Amino acid sequence: MCVGRVVEKSAGLKRALLDQSLSSGIGNIYADEALYLVQLHYARPTETLTRKEVSRVYQAAEQVMTLALAQGGTSFDALYVNVNGESGYFDRSLNVYGRAGEACYRCLESGVESLITRRKFMNRSSYYCPRCQPVPRRARW
Ligand SMILES: [Zn+2]
Repeated sequence: MCVGRVVEKSAGLKRALLDQSLSSGIGNIYADEALYLVQLHYARPTETLTRKEVSRVYQAAEQVMTLALAQGGTSFDALYVNVNGESGYFDRSLNVYGRAGEACYRCLESGVESLITRRKFMNRSSYYCPRCQPVPRRARW
């Protein structure tokens, strides 16, 4: 994947991740999970990211996708439902996606209860922890 192009195009981080022209098929769930891993908010303006942060995002996305495939996820996009219409095993290991109103695991580990937030995003949903993935200044929704 081309790290440089994401940095050069000014957009919200998740929008850039989902943009097929910038990266190959990082799905909505995978994007949320990857951003959670690297503790970045999805509305972070891409032009404020360092190259190191960008490569951490991609490493995390790769990690999440590898895990998903290993656990029976079949699609890189949207639905963690396999060809038989059954839910893949992957949904059991999600850290943030689909957990609105539940406590963030990472914050819980440090003794703080922070509830996962869900926001509408491009006709879908975005999930994040408001404490360890705070909304950035000049957020690009
Ligand atoms: Zn948290």
